[in-house]
Amino acid sequence: MTGYRENQLIHIEPIEAFQDNYIWLIHNNKKSIVVDPGDANPVIETLARKSLGLIAILITHHHADHIGGVRELQKKYPNIKTFAPYKDKYDFVNKSLKNGDEINIPELQINYKIIEIPGHTQGHIAYYDMNNLFCGDTLFACGCGKIFDGTHEQMYDSLRKISALPKKTKIYCAHEYTKKNIAFALSLKPDDMNLKLRREFTSHLKITVPSTLDEELKTNPFLNCHSLEAFKKLRDLKDQF
Ligand SMILES: [Zn+2]
Repeated sequence: MTGYRENQLIHIEPIEAFQDNYIWLIHNNKKSIVVDPGDANPVIETLARKSLGLIAILITHHHADHIGGVRELQKKYPNIKTFAPYKDKYDFVNKSLKNGDEINIPELQINYKIIEIPGHTQGHIAYYDMNNLFCGDTLFACGCGKIFDGTHEQMYDSLRKISALPKKTKIYCAHEYTKKNIAFALSLKPDDMNLKLRREFTSHLKITVPSTLDEELKTNPFLNCHSLEAFKKLRDLKDQF
């Protein structure tokens, strides 16, 4: 999970939190950013173990398992910047972001473009650097997020937006749901070769993400709905699975 960017080696690693959350850690062996720190403790422990400074927090949406650690991290690292979607209200200091905004992290030489992807929540955003997409609880490996305070229409449109990104885009979602999602997809298409291969490949892995958009387009049933009605039906079926 490494990549060269502007002659700098950037690492992207998951920090495991709660039952199945991933807090993404982006770093250059000196400075770091975290995405959706639902819990401060595993972040503080990881930063100490790797001797990393923290310069920014990126928030995708307002759920507690994505923001629960922010205030503690802001207290411990008083100079960090926190970015969050403008449609949500937060009880911590943040710079609010809307579709099309760009943020620059000069210490890591990274720029993120903000893509609004509502559906799971009204305000949900993703951070995109032309190679990697941090998409919170919108697109999962072989699945998609539940509809909470957003709508099916919004989620359907958001998934179409993501589908239009370059196929090589790495998809960094916020939960390890892949095996269950593949089981659901196979219940609909038991003979699908790509799905069987994906099940086989992931069966040996504890951490199955990131995936690529290409992989998702081939296997994710929610990216292969060609109407809003079909999407609604599929989301309902998954909710009952
Ligand atoms: Zn959520």
